[in-house]
Amino acid sequence: SVAAGTSTATMAAPKKKIAVMTSGGDSPGMTAVVRAVVRTAIHMGCDAYCVYEGYEGLVQGGDFIRQMEWHDVRGWLSEGGTLIGTARCMAFFERAGRLTAAKNMILNGIHALIICGGDGSLTGADKFRSEWPSLVDELVANGELTKDQVAPFTHLNIVGLVGSIDNDLSGTDATIGCYSALARICEMVDYIEATASSHSRAFVIEVMGRHCGWLALMAGVATGADFIFIPERPQDQDWKADMSTVVRRHRKMGKRKTIVIVAEGARDRDGTKITPTEIKDLLADKSEGGLALDTRITTLGHVQRGGTAVAYDRMLGTLQGVEAVKAVLEATPETETCFIAINENKIVRKPLMKAVQESKALAKAVDDKDFDMAMQLRDTEFADQYKSYMTTTNVMVDDRKLPEKARMKIGFVNVGAPAGGMNAAVRAAVAYCIARGHEPVAIHNGFAGFARHHDDKPLGAVRPFDWLEVDGWASKGGSEIGTNRELPSDSGMELIANLIEQYEFDALFLVGGFEAFHAISQLRKARDEYPSLCIPMTLLPATISNNVPGTEYSIGSDTCLNELVYYCDKIKQSASATRRRVFVIETQGGRSGYVATLAGLAVGASAVYTPEEGMSLEMLNADVNHLKEVFRNDKGQSRAGRVILINEKASKVYDAKLIASIIRDEAHDRFESRESIPGHVQQGGVPSAMDRCRAVRLAIKCIKHLELFGRNARNHVKRDPASTSVIGIQGSEVVFTPMVDLEESGTDWPNRRPKAAHWLGIRNTVDMLSGRPPYPKPE
Ligand code: ATP
Repeated sequence: SVAAGTSTATMAAPKKKIAVMTSGGDSPGMTAVVRAVVRTAIHMGCDAYCVYEGYEGLVQGGDFIRQMEWHDVRGWLSEGGTLIGTARCMAFFERAGRLTAAKNMILNGIHALIICGGDGSLTGADKFRSEWPSLVDELVANGELTKDQVAPFTHLNIVGLVGSIDNDLSGTDATIGCYSALARICEMVDYIEATASSHSRAFVIEVMGRHCGWLALMAGVATGADFIFIPERPQDQDWKADMSTVVRRHRKMGKRKTIVIVAEGARDRDGTKITPTEIKDLLADKSEGGLALDTRITTLGHVQRGGTAVAYDRMLGTLQGVEAVKAVLEATPETETCFIAINENKIVRKPLMKAVQESKALAKAVDDKDFDMAMQLRDTEFADQYKSYMTTTNVMVDDRKLPEKARMKIGFVNVGAPAGGMNAAVRAAVAYCIARGHEPVAIHNGFAGFARHHDDKPLGAVRPFDWLEVDGWASKGGSEIGTNRELPSDSGMELIANLIEQYEFDALFLVGGFEAFHAISQLRKARDEYPSLCIPMTLLPATISNNVPGTEYSIGSDTCLNELVYYCDKIKQSASATRRRVFVIETQGGRSGYVATLAGLAVGASAVYTPEEGMSLEMLNADVNHLKEVFRNDKGQSRAGRVILINEKASKVYDAKLIASIIRDEAHDRFESRESIPGHVQQGGVPSAMDRCRAVRLAIKCIKHLELFGRNARNHVKRDPASTSVIGIQGSEVVFTPMVDLEESGTDWPNRRPKAAHWLGIRNTVDMLSGRPPYPKPE
């Protein structure tokens, strides 16, 4: 078998049989789940099975339940939907259907079932498990199976994975597929915006979500839509009046386009459904006082489900699939049925039924018009994002302004290379500032711009923001206010300190990568010498390298991963004619192997080389031998080429070109190898929906954090370590970490990365799933 990773320790024990199934509506990333479950199960010494066509296959049995080999799931990461089929199954609602299903499981010797589906599928799963002993008894009692046959199957292990584009299950921040659907929606809205703007039109865009407004809300956040309708939170008053006011205000400001996003299940305060046609009629109303906009309706429909999964869903599906196999293997008859969730960046096991019940309660709350309860039952991110959205769309409303003396002048600066989401972050922060009465000021082109062009030119480097312009930045790539790598010490610390004094900044908001981290550290350290630097400062990490200490995620890194994943998909596909080709692809990331590793997870790389681990001749040798074995065993199942990812700084000696040459030479014409360097493509064109949404949420949190210190905060700021800090996602939380705590203990300065990389363990998963053999560690 190609499953070189098969653990020999567990080989002697009788093999456990683990089955995986996809059920309910399909979602992108389900195939990643199946691949991960099949391979992890085999790796752990179990037999892997797929149940085709959801519960229907379980009830039908026979050929619907198939054993899977390692190579059967090759290439599945880059497939959309589910390749093992899914169906709605009426029979499984009945005990008779579940009885047959139980019999089929036992006849196939299956001990455990991993189900990827929505809340309906998971409810069915839990019912099946709780009924299991009685089903088994009945099968014996009615003579369908013997006591001996059922003896090893007294108890059924079930683990759930949430596959759904709606993101409608409580207890997890994201369901497998929701970010792909969101990406698709944002892409479509971006297209529509161009034409809307050209004709000065209004568009009403309907997105999926009967009880859950996550897609509509996030699409609104990511695209800066003018108005959204979600089931959980209808407008407080008359929605018609509300929408007209907002749209009129935006048009008055000079906006040429109007985008309204409506979830399928949107309703008003009284629970009456709001249809796209009603919205359109209102926008197009030509009677006196009407908006009279040329309005079109676009219903996105099933494109939202379609297509291949974004990098995030491939990672989520894969990591959760691996975790699910571990969970079934660890479970005892006493263990409560769990599902695998993600909270911020942490994959966790949670009680299944609690989540299902909460989701049902939520749907009921919406039906019962208990909207406060509905919002409460959503996770904190949802509520946060709702507030973010309301802030960014209702900028000019006066009722949230702070008293005059509490209003601050806040300098905005981007530092380092551009990263997807930088503009979305600046836009959201500006919106929040305006809404609160602060004065946001753009420092153009980083500290270099600040230092060199501050003189009395009419368009100097320090300028107020023009909201009409900024409002259009939600989906823009690059950095609209300009970014630069120069550090304050390069520009001259005294000059920077004087400028901060001269402009009377009460706070500084930095967005950028490791240079920005370095910059804020320098500013903090120079406070003793320059009292004007005693103002609160905070950094929102934004870099494709994701190498900023204090956070496990920086905005821009998701965009980069998507670019890499699509790039690798295409390049693998290009080998489909010859099939026997290995691509060695060089990734960016500086001295951080994050991007290489996570892209490796999302494309199923045969090997990943990172600076953290370094490279050696033994390693290369082991990988070349592994490739030889893989191609020797490949009986033509592979549909595309293979990929090796190497970070640009993984080795001083070996680069992509050299590795490709070595492989080519060693392959002796049995297969071939090419190098490929995507370069700056990795910065991405349009930022990913996830980067945009997270940018908005985190940026607003940053300004709120600065706000805590108030105006003229000099004296107490100096004593408060939190006054220079980095916002970050750490495990399951969003936190501000003081720079002092990170500078010494958390930062590997020479290598420009955090001392401890949270993702290092993921490298083992990449290897396990590609069957890469263990190799000698470099000395
Ligand atoms: P989606 O998010 O697409 O709605 P879902 O998993 O909620 O996905 P459902 O159609 O509700 O989709 O459920 C899929 C299948 O799960 C059903 O066709 C049925 O076979 C089974 N199922 C759902 N609910 C139950 C239940 N209460 N008891 C037994 N089986 C169920």
